[in-house]
Amino acid sequence: MALIVQKFGGSSVADAESIKRVAARIVETRKAGNEVVVAVSAMGDTTDELIDLAHEVAPIPAPRELDILMSAGERISMSLLAMAINSMGLDARSFTGMQAGMITDSRHGAARIVDVTPGRIRDALDEGAIAIVAGFQGVSEDAADVTTLGRGGSDTTAVALAAALDASVCEIYTDVDGIYTSDPRVVPLAKKIDVISSEEMLELAAAGAKVLHIRAVEFARRHGVDLHVRSSFSNNTGTLVVNETADQTHARIQREMQENGTVEEPIISGVATDLSEAKITVVGVPDTLGKAAAIFDVVAKQGANVDMIVQNVSAASTGLTDISFTLPKADGQRILQSLSASQAEIGFQGLQYDDQIGKLALVGAGMRTNTGVSATLFRALAEAGINIGMISTSEIRISVVTRADVLGEAARVVHNAFGLDGTDAAVVYAGTGR
Ligand code: ADP
Ligand code: ASP
Ligand code: MG
Repeated sequence: MALIVQKFGGSSVADAESIKRVAARIVETRKAGNEVVVAVSAMGDTTDELIDLAHEVAPIPAPRELDILMSAGERISMSLLAMAINSMGLDARSFTGMQAGMITDSRHGAARIVDVTPGRIRDALDEGAIAIVAGFQGVSEDAADVTTLGRGGSDTTAVALAAALDASVCEIYTDVDGIYTSDPRVVPLAKKIDVISSEEMLELAAAGAKVLHIRAVEFARRHGVDLHVRSSFSNNTGTLVVNETADQTHARIQREMQENGTVEEPIISGVATDLSEAKITVVGVPDTLGKAAAIFDVVAKQGANVDMIVQNVSAASTGLTDISFTLPKADGQRILQSLSASQAEIGFQGLQYDDQIGKLALVGAGMRTNTGVSATLFRALAEAGINIGMISTSEIRISVVTRADVLGEAARVVHNAFGLDGTDAAVVYAGTGR
């Protein structure tokens, strides 16, 4: 008997009809003779609505309470899904993250899984039942408080369960047919990718391609879990995320080129966009030793994930410089407050906050061996009249910051400039894209 883990995202269980449709799919997998463990997200945009509600009662909600609140979303969907399966005549039991043995550290809102002890899940399977697990949540090792794994974290629940139960495959069901060369909601001509290396997927996820939670990709890589990302609204084969070395990726691409009769190796595999970040500029920082360290100490203590950092050349006349960095909008107010509190001590002149930025990233293993990628990128943006704010690069990624309102246009022109456009518009089956 094979053990299959299936994860269904929020748009796949948005209403009662969808829950019944998903239930039928799970029943089918069980009836085909597999053991089935399901990780489920909250219905539709429930998590966003709960967060909005929290902000209506408190400007900065207490992280512990926010986690308990958010975890309620997955409790609703897991129990409804189990009921729907039960009414189809099969035994299904739902479990909270705590009951399923998702042990995490205590970083509320971004907890890391430290151990998985799925004894109750294994027991349920042994008794012939289907186990439905609430995605996105766990319990902290020290305080036994409810934690959440960060937005999009149900993917990680699924992968962690697949690893702990030694599943043969982990299927991630969502509202598009797989992983595309870009977000189909932003770039309609994006093409579906059949196979992608976990290395490239990690970079895409880090750059905001929310089709997979970055921790899920990391976890799958570390534990050798194969992922199949596909739609719950169709029977089409999706995208396989495979764990391979750079050499193996290269060899696979050569094989694919031979099969397709193409001669040119693709340099770029995907274009990611991200509107969830903001930029903080620390203005008038004395250009003396240790000031950057002091600033980022304050930021690190608050646990914010800083991405791009730019320090301007200091003006000779004043000896002052500006330091800008990007970070998740959700961390913005907290970081501004703590930097403000350290202003006198560090000695900078002021703070600027800009939450109308967009980030665009190009990802591709082929970038390592190709020059001219940045030139093509910058030319495409310049020809479209799009100004670039910040730039950063890694071995297989180039990221730029633009104004938020032109990010979509930027993605479309860059996608086209690298020859990634397909002929037909990609299908987006459901969801609001929120
Ligand atoms: P779920 O609720 O199923 O977890 P998400 O909204 O988290 O779904 O992720 C699926 C969405 O990810 C798609 O609807 C799409 O808009 C977005 N997305 C971003 N980048 C990509 C990409 N490269 N390929 C496919 N989808 C992408
Ligand atoms: N419901 C959570 C969220 O919206 C987790 C998930 O969907 O993966 O972020
Ligand atoms: Mg998701």
